[in-house]
Amino acid sequence: MVCAAIAAVACWWTFTRCTGRTRTAWGLLATTASCWTVGNIWWFYYQLLAPTQPYPSMADVFYLAAVVAAFAGLISLPVAPTRGIERARMIVDGVLAGTLVLFLAANFGIADVFLAAPEEALAALVFVSYPVADIGLVTVVMVLLLRSRGRVSPWLLVLGAAFVSYSVADSAYGLASARGEFQIGTPLDLGWTGGYLLLAVAAVSADSARDQRPAAEVPRGRRAFSAIGDVLIFAIVTVTIVAGDIPGVPTAVNELADGALILLIGVRQVVLAIENHTLRRDLEARVVDRTEALEELAGRNQHILDAVADGLYGVDRDGRLTFANPAASRMLARDHDDLVGRHAHDLFHGRGWDGTPHPWSECPLYAAVVDGVVTRVADDEYIRADGTLFPVEFTASPLGSPHSDVAAVVAFRDVSERREIDRAKDEFLSTVSHELRTPLTSIRGSLGLIAGGAMGDIPSAADRMIQIAMDSSDRLGRLINDILDLERAEAGTLPMQPRPCPVADLLTTSVEQVRGVADSAEVRLVLEPAGGVVLADPDRIVQTLTNVLGNAVKFSPSGSTVTVSAETVGTEVEFRVRDQGRGIPADRLESIFGRFQQVDSTDSREQNGSGLGLAISRGIVESHGGRIWAQSQVGAGSTFCFTLPAASGSTTGEVVIGDVVPGEARQPKVLVCDNDPEVRALLVTQLERRGYDAVTAARGRDVAGLAVTERPDVVVLELEMDGGTGWETVERLKSQSETRHIPVIVMSALTTSRDGQLAARTDGWILKPVDNSAMGEVVGAAIGRHDAQPTVLLVEDDLGLADVLTTTFNRRGVRVVHAATEREAIEATRSLVPDALVLDLYLPDGDGFAVVAHMRQDPALASIPVVVYSAHEVSGAARDRLRLGETVLFTKGRVSLEDLESRVLDLVGVLADSRQKVGECLPG
Ligand code: ADP
Repeated sequence: MVCAAIAAVACWWTFTRCTGRTRTAWGLLATTASCWTVGNIWWFYYQLLAPTQPYPSMADVFYLAAVVAAFAGLISLPVAPTRGIERARMIVDGVLAGTLVLFLAANFGIADVFLAAPEEALAALVFVSYPVADIGLVTVVMVLLLRSRGRVSPWLLVLGAAFVSYSVADSAYGLASARGEFQIGTPLDLGWTGGYLLLAVAAVSADSARDQRPAAEVPRGRRAFSAIGDVLIFAIVTVTIVAGDIPGVPTAVNELADGALILLIGVRQVVLAIENHTLRRDLEARVVDRTEALEELAGRNQHILDAVADGLYGVDRDGRLTFANPAASRMLARDHDDLVGRHAHDLFHGRGWDGTPHPWSECPLYAAVVDGVVTRVADDEYIRADGTLFPVEFTASPLGSPHSDVAAVVAFRDVSERREIDRAKDEFLSTVSHELRTPLTSIRGSLGLIAGGAMGDIPSAADRMIQIAMDSSDRLGRLINDILDLERAEAGTLPMQPRPCPVADLLTTSVEQVRGVADSAEVRLVLEPAGGVVLADPDRIVQTLTNVLGNAVKFSPSGSTVTVSAETVGTEVEFRVRDQGRGIPADRLESIFGRFQQVDSTDSREQNGSGLGLAISRGIVESHGGRIWAQSQVGAGSTFCFTLPAASGSTTGEVVIGDVVPGEARQPKVLVCDNDPEVRALLVTQLERRGYDAVTAARGRDVAGLAVTERPDVVVLELEMDGGTGWETVERLKSQSETRHIPVIVMSALTTSRDGQLAARTDGWILKPVDNSAMGEVVGAAIGRHDAQPTVLLVEDDLGLADVLTTTFNRRGVRVVHAATEREAIEATRSLVPDALVLDLYLPDGDGFAVVAHMRQDPALASIPVVVYSAHEVSGAARDRLRLGETVLFTKGRVSLEDLESRVLDLVGVLADSRQKVGECLPG
């Protein structure tokens, strides 16, 4: 009773877990177990409590109901689908199974049960129903197991065992009762209780989902069960035949039954043979199909290999080619047969232009084959059969399969065309930069002159138009600069001169550059104290910082604060610019680093931006090996961060950042010559107090040499030294080319009258004893006369720009000698020692480098300040080739004419005002 109840609970539980047909089946099996439970309660009642037991009783009603539900439940269980001939075999197997059960039952004396049936019809029917139902149940279980050929799950086996156990116990009970031998509490009862418990186990272990798999997925091991099933059936048949005739049944019936059994087995064999035949035919057809599919696949693969434009080849573990596609043969100019079997590296990769061999162990292909790593090479060369080289990029991928004869596959591409395009692009950019920047500089310069009143007063309406034109040309200039910078940043060709730079200097310079804009936008700039040194090109980093800072100011409301800070994090320094502005939506945080990307399309108009700044900044930071990113909360502000590698150690010397030139202006130098050391000491003190730099000579014959090496601005000479050799010294100074231009002041106790001719060749006369103020006046006058009208040699082939520059400098009292070609420039220096040289680099008949090289040869010209003003940026070693005296490099379009003007004036000693010095200065 209890065991049946357990089975009922388990079955109902499984019922709730399942769906579809399985659910129905478990519902019916749960009904079976429930009926058994109620039947057992009744039976218990009759056995122990009721005075008499009627037959048939209420217990029988539930037991028989249980049988009906069990049949329905077992049949409803979904098992593997069967088709065609399989179905025929299953029917034969079912009949065979039923016959066997009957044979066995008969052999165990089930006939006795039938013989002991009561007289009364209903009672007899109920009585006989039990053995019939038991035989039926066992048969159904066997059919069920046979039907699920090869997919028998453990729970299904347990379920079968449950019903077999129950049926055997039930039939045995019937038999014992018929013989009047039944006793409660014998091992026979275990058949029932065991059956109930097995049903409970089957219910809880049933996994409906897993058993719905199609037969194809059934593992091989399970299929063996069907064969074992076959063997079992035959074994039982054999046992039955050996066991002999069924007792109490006529011999004829026995023989008929034996014959029927043999016939059934025969039929089964025929069915089996047909099934095997069908199976073989299916298999053969499948093999044919698969072979065709494989051939088609191989053909398709070959077709793809043939069609790819990239060269493809495979190599074995030794680096020998195992295959090569037609594109590879074509590019290498070798037949397929000439490639296969040969060593790839030795054949077309192992040598440079000059024939020097590269070792195989350093070949990227070696890394793929031996180390098993994917190697990508963007810049390499392969050798054609005729020995010519061509540029390639390739990827070598290891295959990693120990069974294949291909250890790695290489895909390569001839990049000659792309290289050519890159070269053309560079040339185009270079042309654009020159052709656009120079006229734009003239336009901007001319407008500046007009606006500044150089051409007279202008009406106020025109003034406004001129202002618009100036703003627009500034904007156009910025755009050209940005586009050129971006191209080069992306191509990795932006001129960079990394050196150790103190972080604090970079931050201060950048903040100073945007201070003006921030003040007019009423945004407060806060620079947090920062230490550390980074390895970077200061110009580029200041460019990046000013862009990010400029953005922060642009997109911040007035009254808010922009904070700049930097912090060392591990081996990097992280720069941060935080604002309290409008913020950037999360989905735009990455895209704003793309070209022409702006959060709002009105930004370009309202904020005067091009959307290129951050793209350039990213290019700059990444080419320093750093990263740049933005964080933001819309409405609350943004933080832009970037990292740069920290420099180990400290900076060496002073770092020149961008536009700031260190050091004081050079003091004029005076060479004093007198035999008397006291006089020399006195003169040096006087001169130094007046801001001169003094060097001295004790003997007249040393003066000419010192004048060459020290390059003084003026020589002060005692006339009567060494017994009157002063005149000879003057003579010598004036005759040698290196010193001809240096003013000479004579110190003498005599007046000038003695030698009028020579006196005319000197530049001043000081009467001894030397009066301090007279000395200052005369020396000052000598230098002043020399500097009276400073002269600039302007080397510029663009006549428009030359005109604008000439006008600009003339307005400041500076004389301009213009040379439009290299030849003219060199010619001009033969008769002129200018105070400064303003030099364009690209000249119709040569270049500015040649002009500088020529001037270096002449000591009188070798230390003249130079301002290089070119459309092209100068980088690397080229800078050194431009060095004369103080040397400043300006790029047209990047530096305004006003800045150029102020810098040149500063160099020639005019307008020593407080304007910021701009441009990059090379130490002289
Ligand atoms: P530009 O400023 O010249 O438009 P950028 O590349 O420097 O170009 O910036 C791209 C865009 O990113 C800007 O137009 C703006 O929409 C957005 N942006 C950059 N910085 C900020 C910031 N601090 N706050 C809000 N938006 C910003």
